[in-house]
Amino acid sequence: MSIDTVPFVSGHLARAREFLGRAGVDALLIVKAENRRYVTGFTGSAGLALVTPDVTFLAVDFRYEEQAVAEAPQCTVLRGGRDPVAALVGALKASAIRSIGFEAEYVPFAQVTRLREKLAPAELIPLADVDRLRWVKDAGELAAISRAVEIADAAFAHTLSVLRPGLTEQEAALELEMSMRRAGAERVAFDTVLASGPRSALPHGRATNRRMEAGELVTLDFGAVSDGYCSDCTRTVALAAADDRQRRIYDVVLAAQRQALATIRAGVPCREVDASARAVIASAGFGEAFGHSLGHGLGLEVHEGPRLAPQEEAVLEAGMVLTVEPGIYLPGWGGVRIEDDVVVTADGCDILTTAPKALRSFSVS
Ligand code: ZN
Ligand code: ZN
Repeated sequence: MSIDTVPFVSGHLARAREFLGRAGVDALLIVKAENRRYVTGFTGSAGLALVTPDVTFLAVDFRYEEQAVAEAPQCTVLRGGRDPVAALVGALKASAIRSIGFEAEYVPFAQVTRLREKLAPAELIPLADVDRLRWVKDAGELAAISRAVEIADAAFAHTLSVLRPGLTEQEAALELEMSMRRAGAERVAFDTVLASGPRSALPHGRATNRRMEAGELVTLDFGAVSDGYCSDCTRTVALAAADDRQRRIYDVVLAAQRQALATIRAGVPCREVDASARAVIASAGFGEAFGHSLGHGLGLEVHEGPRLAPQEEAVLEAGMVLTVEPGIYLPGWGGVRIEDDVVVTADGCDILTTAPKALRSFSVS
């Protein structure tokens, strides 16, 4: 079931207009698909949105004219035919807009150059952090993410029932992806990571035709998309009874994740959360084996801000959705990662992921 996005778009537009004021520009040009969807509700793959203090233009090409009118009732849709930029230039002719901010970290240089020529005399101003508008989620977004998490959890439970030694990584990944689609995912959020045995030491090991063997660890990292919003979950399981080393390393990763989850609350710097998990792993002697950041924001993009990372300057705010995913990777042996999706609250966090975290061991007969 699709969520009615119209009431939420109003809130997103209000945020974009506050941003205009802070940035000191007359208008904000949006090219990036996720930002465009955020401020307009339009889900097409191409188009230009221009947010001004009193109107939002959405210029689309011929393919998307009807869809834009239907999905973006709060926008003035410019039917661009073959040339949406010309339609936007026409709409701006009589306006007093002189400075237009754009997504400096996203728009290619060649496109900026072309837009500069066409939008003159209005000046194009590079703005950082436009994506930051999307960091704190509203109720509609939280509902969509929760649904994406539920779908992935259900698909994982099904996949556990068929996972066994002898299956290839690709066969297991296909099962997981198909069950996400069957459970209602509009697509998978990213290429499923499914890495077994020594390959589980690769944090982003895609599924291969390797056959999984009894006694190995298998890392599964997967996500679903619902109403445009992503989930992102990792579980590591043991094919057969885990040995002492597998169990010990798993317990360290789980303890690190629990420590991070206990640290999260509004007002805490992101890098403190990262440090809290890193300290647990380092004190167990595996500091060098946790080479990536602890987590990332999650929303219309599977990786967005803020990051739970040593260099992140941001501070947690209620309503941010983050992944918490410590890992230990030992080349030649394998790896363990455990990843949950959480919503930051005033006094802690709500953990959305419900897939069990006790080390799952299969009895192989
Ligand atoms: Zn992941
Ligand atoms: Zn992740």
